Amino acid sequence: MEKLNNSIDRSWIDKLNKPLIISGPCSAESEQQILETANRLNPSYVQVFRAGIWKPRTKPNNFEGIGKKGLEWLHKVKKNTGFMIATEVANAEHVKLAISFEIDVLWIGARSTASPFTIQEIANALEGENNKIILVKNPIHPDIELWIGALERLLSKGIKKLGVIHRGFYTYKNSKYRNQPNWNFLLNFRSLLPRIPIICDPSHICGNKEGIFDIAKKAYHFQNEGLMIESHCDPDHAWSDAQQQITPERLLEMLKKLTDIKKCDQKSKRDLNSFRIVIDELDENIIALLAERMNISKKLGSFKKASNIAIYQPDRWKEIMEKSIHLGRSLGISEELLEGIFKLLHQESIKIQNQIK
Ligand code: PEP
Ligand code: MN
Repeated sequence: MEKLNNSIDRSWIDKLNKPLIISGPCSAESEQQILETANRLNPSYVQVFRAGIWKPRTKPNNFEGIGKKGLEWLHKVKKNTGFMIATEVANAEHVKLAISFEIDVLWIGARSTASPFTIQEIANALEGENNKIILVKNPIHPDIELWIGALERLLSKGIKKLGVIHRGFYTYKNSKYRNQPNWNFLLNFRSLLPRIPIICDPSHICGNKEGIFDIAKKAYHFQNEGLMIESHCDPDHAWSDAQQQITPERLLEMLKKLTDIKKCDQKSKRDLNSFRIVIDELDENIIALLAERMNISKKLGSFKKASNIAIYQPDRWKEIMEKSIHLGRSLGISEELLEGIFKLLHQESIKIQNQIK
């Protein structure tokens, strides 16, 4: 781990002296869409123009990317505007084509990071391309070893201009996010690899336009080095991820506000805020789990009613309390706290079950 951490070449991002901003559409759709979006992005704030050329879609029969001709449009953006250009690569053929069109930043998508075979294929294809910047998105599931393993595979092929993109994690829970940020996980990741640049992708965390600014602000408190935010000249008619894309003008408003906050914020306050962000997310998770528990209580109530079983079962209640206190003790939680919480939960559960007609 230490070798990986020390080998990371940060020169490409340190020389910016400000946050790295990557923006552009989820997918390249037409030459006009690419050029118009790029022309409307403000180069004083944005350094890298992104567009997906090959799109990994969860289900078949969706738009799967425009393919190679999109690389020509990206190359035009590079020539006309001076932006660096970025796209997602998922196999050796993509890498070869991206290199031939002088793509500066290649990112590896969340689904690819989850597959060591895919990462190895990409790493092999990148051997010798020491000038490319490679950004590795977090794997779909919060598996820290898998994420670090991907970086190690790239490093072993001489790729040192590395960074990661935090795009959140799959969640089975009812959540306001498309992908759960899991800030606590990110804090752990950062403590293992303090030198790796972390870019936050609020678009894929939120899955909607409304939440983007809040996540971008949180990323800033976490001292992330940059943002990747999807923008589109006509977001509502985008061929993929339409709900989460914003116009270049809306993006500029957000970036200006973030810069203002940054100017008057102190380091000690930032640290305090990052702990608060972790606590807030854990509390949200507790509430989501409580809702899930109460839903099951309702189902259990109907079942008991139909089967003529008494709602209050003293043996079962005793068993739950003992198991919870035992588990809590092993995790360093006081008996008093757990007893209080579980008494309340039990009362509420009985109440819910009694209300069932
Ligand atoms: C994307 O950036 O458009 C994308 C497909 O992202 P992810 O791999 O995070 O889903
Ligand atoms: Mn997208």
